[in-house]
Amino acid sequence: MRILKQSKGIGLFSVLYLCCVLLATISCSTDENELKPEPEQKYTLTLSINPENGGEVSGEGEYLEGKEVSVMASPGEYYKFINWLDEESNIVSEDSSFTFTMPDHNVTLTAELDKSLKYKIHFIDVGQGDAILITTHEKVLLVDGGWRTSNVAGYLSQQGIDEIDYVIATHPHADHIGGLIEVFNTYTIGEVIDPGVNHTTINYNDYLTAIDENDIPYTEGKKGMQRDLGKDAYFEILHPPDPIPNYSNSYLNNVSVVARVTLGEITVMLTGDIEKEGEADLVAATENLSAHILKVAHHGSHSSSTMEFLEAVEPEISIIMCGQNNQYGHPHQQTLDNLNDIGTEIYRTDIHGHIIINIFENEYEVITQNN
Ligand SMILES: [Zn+2]
Repeated sequence: MRILKQSKGIGLFSVLYLCCVLLATISCSTDENELKPEPEQKYTLTLSINPENGGEVSGEGEYLEGKEVSVMASPGEYYKFINWLDEESNIVSEDSSFTFTMPDHNVTLTAELDKSLKYKIHFIDVGQGDAILITTHEKVLLVDGGWRTSNVAGYLSQQGIDEIDYVIATHPHADHIGGLIEVFNTYTIGEVIDPGVNHTTINYNDYLTAIDENDIPYTEGKKGMQRDLGKDAYFEILHPPDPIPNYSNSYLNNVSVVARVTLGEITVMLTGDIEKEGEADLVAATENLSAHILKVAHHGSHSSSTMEFLEAVEPEISIIMCGQNNQYGHPHQQTLDNLNDIGTEIYRTDIHGHIIINIFENEYEVITQNN
């Protein structure tokens, strides 16, 4: 955990997670009699959270006999419903979305409340590929979607995502765009940004078709572009420049869209698969490359992560996204040595599984699927 400067910015957030939470119990304020509704009669539940635990939070939901109850708290709060309990405190539902089936009348809603969680980053373990989800209280950004078989669409669904404001497809390789096809066919997408270079594969063709058939607004990502992610949050594209340099080696990797995401006091550098040439251009063209969190380029290959680039970024935390026993031997020892030389903390999806970073009002924490 690191202590950061104080900053503000809270809005209604529909993605669920918990940490350093204030546990609060919300119960139906109506009495026993009122909880026996006539069929099809609609009841409003008034909810409150014990001020000792969670401060003044209130919300309301509607209960319809045999149907569903949905509950929303006041805008500005971030919280998670864990489960429904019956009179004997047995868990009757663990549905973690905002809408619950209410199996009988005598239930208690247990909620976890965290007022300060502001942003969340998921480095989704897709094996040898990239998929990064960033959520703020207002917006959702997805950077790459792993393989076609990675089921990133399913992961997003588990997180309660129903709409994605921005998708960055860093470059047209299958380990980055494969999973986006299902994402495009499943979710409402505000805008897709990619480097605008062609590739002749079935995956890439299907990716273009999915953009087209779903009428998704499309933009070529160029250095200098910026998009808003809500209060105190945005991302800027640092690479590729316009016109795109004529990289002779690994053209598609080197044209990867590189984005730096600012989340309050925290910055995140997302590098796709850029290699040495792309990194050199970034160092030469960018006045300030620093970031707290670095997604290490190209799965930890020694074709990337030069000392010049790493020293310019100087990340506190570095994330390597690669598969267990992958055929390329990623991450390469040279990359690990370079990362160790700059004194950054290393996390790897091949070891840690999903890597989640919760950013709070004045600190952040890293949570890994595997210890
Ligand atoms: Zn890749």
